[in-house]
Amino acid sequence: MKILFSSWNDEIIDNRGIDPVNWKDAPQVKLPTEFDKENNVIAFIGWAGIILVKNSVNIVDMCASFFDYVQNNSCGKCFAGRIGTAVMQKFLKKIAKGDGEESDLTHLEALGKNILKTAKCSVGQTSPIPILHALKFFREDFLTAVRVSKPVSNTTRYEGKWTIPCYYACPTGMDIATYIELIKEWKPLESLRVIREASPMASTLGRACFHPCEDNCRRKNVEKSISICKLKRFAWDYEDLHSISKPTNPNKHVKEDKITVIGTGPAGLSAAYYLALRGYRVTVFESLPVHGGMVGVGIPSYRVPKEILQKEVNFIEDMGVEIRYNTKVGKDITIPQLKEQGYKAFYISTGAHLSKKMGAEGEDAGYDGFIKGVDYLRDCVTTKCYTVKGKRVIVVGGGNVAMDCCRTPVRLGAEEVIVVYRRTKKELPADPHEVYESEIEGVQYTFLTAPKRIIAENGKVTGLECLKMELGEPDASGRRRPIEVKGSEFVIPADIVIQAIGQDCDLSVLNGVNGIKLTKWQTIVADPHTFQTDVPWIFTGGDVFNGPLTIVDACGNARRAAESIDQYLSNKPVSLSVPQKIDKVIKVLGAYNKYEKIGIKSGWERVPMPTIPMDERLNSFEEVETGYSLEQAIEEASRCMRCYQIAMVALEQTV
Ligand SMILES: Cc1cc2nc3c(=O)[nH]c(=O)nc-3n(C[C@H](O)[C@H](O)[C@H](O)COP(=O)(O)OP(=O)(O)OC[C@H]3O[C@@H](n4cnc5c(N)ncnc54)[C@H](O)[C@@H]3O)c2cc1C
Repeated sequence: MKILFSSWNDEIIDNRGIDPVNWKDAPQVKLPTEFDKENNVIAFIGWAGIILVKNSVNIVDMCASFFDYVQNNSCGKCFAGRIGTAVMQKFLKKIAKGDGEESDLTHLEALGKNILKTAKCSVGQTSPIPILHALKFFREDFLTAVRVSKPVSNTTRYEGKWTIPCYYACPTGMDIATYIELIKEWKPLESLRVIREASPMASTLGRACFHPCEDNCRRKNVEKSISICKLKRFAWDYEDLHSISKPTNPNKHVKEDKITVIGTGPAGLSAAYYLALRGYRVTVFESLPVHGGMVGVGIPSYRVPKEILQKEVNFIEDMGVEIRYNTKVGKDITIPQLKEQGYKAFYISTGAHLSKKMGAEGEDAGYDGFIKGVDYLRDCVTTKCYTVKGKRVIVVGGGNVAMDCCRTPVRLGAEEVIVVYRRTKKELPADPHEVYESEIEGVQYTFLTAPKRIIAENGKVTGLECLKMELGEPDASGRRRPIEVKGSEFVIPADIVIQAIGQDCDLSVLNGVNGIKLTKWQTIVADPHTFQTDVPWIFTGGDVFNGPLTIVDACGNARRAAESIDQYLSNKPVSLSVPQKIDKVIKVLGAYNKYEKIGIKSGWERVPMPTIPMDERLNSFEEVETGYSLEQAIEEASRCMRCYQIAMVALEQTV
């Protein structure tokens, strides 16, 4: 990116005094310049330095405003962070007002360095950094402010926000550090209250979330990341195990407006919950006889037990949500018909339930023993599980659906289960934890292998003809492209072939609706921040918008969409708030630096998650992980470094 100045992450790019055509690039800096339609970002100051897009900010004023925000957000847990930053704020204000002295700059520097070393939390450990950068690289501006003895220009609009790397990685925007801190302080119910501000599905997420937060946890730079996901489960389990009554909804049905939500997956349930909390009358239509979407009919109960999901759904229903099962919208009733019945807004969250084809000969022949992965898992819940006892099962695919498709027959007595994947283990898209678990349960893998033909005798599967593959150059996904090795055909004998290579969306929900755009992947087009479609009263989210993705993405979309639907029904502009716009900027810039040296000793390892013994796993659908005890949860939570950081944007009007 071409910018005037950056000291971000200690990489100094200084283009001051240079003709813009010759400006040096700042490769590490990805600062979006559009804040909203009316404002551009012209500077950014925060935990890792200063970025100036152009020369229209007074640096002294920006530092003083930044420290006002830092002071207001320092937690008070340590003297250096609370009082030290207050003294820095005082000095900066004094200089900005024109009352400063040259010696103040020396005091500021000494104080900043001291706070960096002694503060107990990262607000104190990072906030002086941009001030020290400013004093070093913009010393003349500070000296001028001191010598001229007049207030510096303070006409720029600044907006500040706390940040935290794990928070930025969570699509729900959950205040992770606070809920972990509350567990550490032995307040699990308060922790759960914080979790529920961002998602009503603490139990499901605490069991099956792929936890992008943990990949952005600064503890990872020391040893292993905090077990953020499983601590969430602990908070929910605590409430459940102690039969503590759950919170109620004081706004239940206080509004007259009726809203339709379509689908009881994580997106639909979450949207319904937040809309009910706002007082709306919400009806959720579900085509199946069971709830939960892919959590209910995809994820097997050894990962998320059905009774746990039932309790989560009961909680959402208690908030005032009505669920109507066995009703397929688009077939049994259409959106226009529901609109005529008085529903004012619609949330479409129908997921991606159609299996993609794998392009092998014979897959449409209707052979007995050839099964689509999502159908296989769903039938195990809604009708009857296909018999695999004593049989040889091949699962084609390397994603998370393939993992559930291979770990399920292991539990149902299959003689052998083999996963066939066209790249190597390194490229497997499935969660590494799932891959590990499948391996210890006895699943075998055949890598660099692609299906060519399903072999059958008398209409019954007897094997899978495969081709050997080798890896070429990276494709659009960034992974190396598999290339067929000519003449390498070979057969793997099998009684059952399960195809688990991806899903598509069934868009019959839109029957009778005009004006909704679709992507080339046949997902619904909507604003990625408000989730409003081109039909203003229809909103969407989850897999039908993202394509097959994750539970936490679906929950995050839904939380935001519920806010948008509320804005729409309250005749307010459907748009992001200022803090959400700052979040958007920080998401692009990145809040986690995997190269950062934290400077503390490693060795405080993550508390392992207890599991049931292997012989119990293989004969039942008993939940594999048993959850942390109180002592284990407190110990694990105590590893959290509370990585709060402060950021501020400087804005300039575009019109
Ligand atoms: C086998 C499997 C395992 C997975 N494991 C994980 C995991 O461990 N962690 C993770 O984060 N993600 C996982 N995922 C992905 C995750 O489950 C999905 O991303 C998530 O459930 C999407 O939520 P959703 O609400 O958008 O859609 P869904 O959960 O698919 O829910 C959509 C709901 O809409 C209903 N519906 C569809 N059409 C209609 C209609 N016309 N009328 C009424 N109702 C309709 C469906 O029956 C369904 O109940 C997994 C997916 C699969 C398939």
